Amino acid sequence: MSRGEMLYEGKAKRLWATDDPNRLVQEFKNDATAFDGTKHEIIAGKGRLNNAISSHFFSLLRDEGLRTHFVEKLSETEMLVLHLQMLKVEVVVRNIAAGSLVRRLGIEENRRFDPPIVEFYLKDDALHDPVLSEEHVRALELATSEQVDEMKRIARTVNVVLKGFLAQRNIDLVDFKLEFGLKDGELVLGDEISPDTCRFHEAATGRVMDKDIFRRDLGGFVEAYEEILDRVSR
Ligand code: C5P
Repeated sequence: MSRGEMLYEGKAKRLWATDDPNRLVQEFKNDATAFDGTKHEIIAGKGRLNNAISSHFFSLLRDEGLRTHFVEKLSETEMLVLHLQMLKVEVVVRNIAAGSLVRRLGIEENRRFDPPIVEFYLKDDALHDPVLSEEHVRALELATSEQVDEMKRIARTVNVVLKGFLAQRNIDLVDFKLEFGLKDGELVLGDEISPDTCRFHEAATGRVMDKDIFRRDLGGFVEAYEEILDRVSR
């Protein structure tokens, strides 16, 4: 599958056309960014690790019967994906309180939620991705009521699958973000599922094994991502 013109460049990924209009190449870059791009570093190996980890998670979800954009891993830093019309919302699932939820609501970190919380955010860097109610999603026509309900249902299923898989590998799935697109009118999971878009804590120790290492300058970023890849490859 040969790569054509670049269609999109984001902070951590590029999308390239292929000779099939229904398929794109998704390339993972070595750029790490946080706080709306104000913190930025190049980390050798990050693209390779996120491509490999995302490929594992998408394969796992596909095996569970979920529709994802993942077709196949093409190279160390590239995967072949379906060409989706992306929705402008991010869907976040939270099992354990962390990050923006703790800051916004003033609750204590590590509080567990059962059932998990599912939230919607507007994909808009200039507005700092504000949180949306389901009514906002519908009123702004970011998705229909049926799509809101289906995204929540899929997000909860993804949570059950990933949480169980990771628990067997001594990892707590704290929270994660999903992005959806449409293909022939159907919702399909897109983007990536990696330590950049999830929070992973070692279950026994609470050790941070995700992008919070970069956000909070904890050290050992590549080693932690390598360890996630090692554990999800088993
Ligand atoms: O920052 P916040 O606590 O809301 O993030 C919740 C989860 O969603 C985290 O796992 C974070 O990495 C992910 N996220 C993301 N992209 C964003 C916002 C959050 O991957 N733009």
